[in-house]
Amino acid sequence: MEELTDKFNRRIDYLRVSVTDRCNLRCVYCMPQCGVSQKAPGEILAFEEISRIVKLAIGMGIDKIKVTGGEPLVRKGLPRLLHLISSLAGLKDLSLTTNGMLLARYSKELKAAGLKKLNISIDTLDSQKFAHIARFGKLDNVLAGIDAAGKEKFLIKLNVVMMKGLNDDEILDFVRFAQDRQIIVRFIELMPMAGNSILSEDLYMSGEEIKQRLTALGNLKRLYAKFGHGPAQYYKIEGTQAIIGLISPMSCKFCFSCNRLRLTADGMLKPCLVSEQGLDLKRPLRFGEEEEVAQLIQQAVFLKPQGHHLDFNSQRQYLMSEIGG
Ligand code: SAM
Ligand code: SF4
Repeated sequence: MEELTDKFNRRIDYLRVSVTDRCNLRCVYCMPQCGVSQKAPGEILAFEEISRIVKLAIGMGIDKIKVTGGEPLVRKGLPRLLHLISSLAGLKDLSLTTNGMLLARYSKELKAAGLKKLNISIDTLDSQKFAHIARFGKLDNVLAGIDAAGKEKFLIKLNVVMMKGLNDDEILDFVRFAQDRQIIVRFIELMPMAGNSILSEDLYMSGEEIKQRLTALGNLKRLYAKFGHGPAQYYKIEGTQAIIGLISPMSCKFCFSCNRLRLTADGMLKPCLVSEQGLDLKRPLRFGEEEEVAQLIQQAVFLKPQGHHLDFNSQRQYLMSEIGG
């Protein structure tokens, strides 16, 4: 079995695949109201091309894939891609990150395509606040999506980006909401990304502050069991069944344990979320030069920086929707 290891001795076994830079929402922390400039259809990798890259990557030591975007479910026929990927030998884990808007429509097809795990992003349980945070779409669609996914018995994690004064009054509501559905909720620290139209650091809330708020429900017990392959720290509220994840990219950088590469919808392989440039896999792939694609994957691993230097004062030039969050 091949392994990919970078200069800092980190094993790289996880690839995040963005299938589109388009989205049906405009979350204030991610995209400008007018959206982002969209790639022409010919620039975007076809499903067969993505699947070829994933197959090559699996042969080199990647065994976990997350499909993301933009909003992956706005890409027509997405279940077909999931079917192609889930059928690849050697893959241990496949998941999809979605804003849930189209989940009620696609849950059954996604399940039939071999998908078992979903991360659903939802930042508020209040429809008026939803209109303010997501700007497009309706909360009811997301809630219907969560219910539909529950019926299909997906393993679900909710992702909530915490913003002080916007949704921090809902932390406990989210815990109860998730507990009622026996799913895990994860609170994410706000990151300063391009496209973010709420630039104020005042909105930022650290994982520690979130933890403090959670103690209103009981003592928190750190869990060391694995609930995923990412950087979340998990806690249980003693005396309850609630499992909560905290993702703290700003206050508690987890770069030392980073295990991932990111493929953009137009075929650029990024060593890190904040890499200025990516390595173009599309050109050699379209010329049938798979050897070169494999070399570029090796090179991306080699180029992985030791850590990110995101902070609220630096220039935000990385579009999460484009790179694939
Ligand atoms: N559209 C899908 C969704 O929203 O789940 C997938 C793509 S989205 C870029 C992936 C994740 O990145 C979401 O959970 C979203 O909340 C998170 N995200 C986007 N911008 C962020 C930011 N500035 N800080 C923290 N998380 C962010
Ligand atoms: Fe769209 Fe996801 Fe970005 Fe929100 S976070 S604008 S749903 S890509």
